[in-house]
Amino acid sequence: MSKELDIKKKQAEIVQRDLLGLKETANDFAQIWDGFKSCLTGLWVSGKYIFKPTVTLHYPDQRWVMYKNTRNWLKLVMNEETGEELCTACGSCVRVCPCSCIRVAGKKAQKRKGLVPDIFEIDFSLCCFCGLCVEVCPFNAIKFCAAYEMSCYDRNELLWNKEALLNITDDFTPIKESKKVSTLYINKWENQIKEYKIPE
Ligand code: SF4
Ligand code: SF4
Repeated sequence: MSKELDIKKKQAEIVQRDLLGLKETANDFAQIWDGFKSCLTGLWVSGKYIFKPTVTLHYPDQRWVMYKNTRNWLKLVMNEETGEELCTACGSCVRVCPCSCIRVAGKKAQKRKGLVPDIFEIDFSLCCFCGLCVEVCPFNAIKFCAAYEMSCYDRNELLWNKEALLNITDDFTPIKESKKVSTLYINKWENQIKEYKIPE
């Protein structure tokens, strides 16, 4: 009798172990199915965008075209006929600037009456790009330009002198040409920074 009981007990243990094994296998399959489902969901989510128009660019190989009214780097404007700055060093922009980041000192102009800037500096690390200097200038001598990449490792690189402000590119070039223009701009910018000395 006890032998029969032992056999039944062992059989019950085997059945229990088999059931446990089946449960684990079922769990494994459930996990595989979950993984497969999330894979399909991911493919479905990204697949939906394959045929939609692209909204991103391969920066920095491609760059957005800046609109004329965007506020990027500030630029001093040159009179193309005389080759002199339009700026008369009147100081209106200095007075209106809420960040006190413009410094101007004038000298006598050679080709017209009045003054031209001897020193014209903008500290872009302080500038808030409010545009008041552009609005207030009675000679349209300062404006925002197309170049917009401003990140740098040294804060001093954001202090721009007159030459840098005159020579920065102002070309709102279409995307396919923009790589060339931006490289030109960066080269110019790097040279200007290298040559830049803070006036005594
Ligand atoms: S944009 Fe505004 S903060 Fe910047 S230099 Fe001009 S007035 Fe000053
Ligand atoms: S940029 Fe315009 S407002 Fe500023 S000093 Fe020159 S002329 Fe005057």
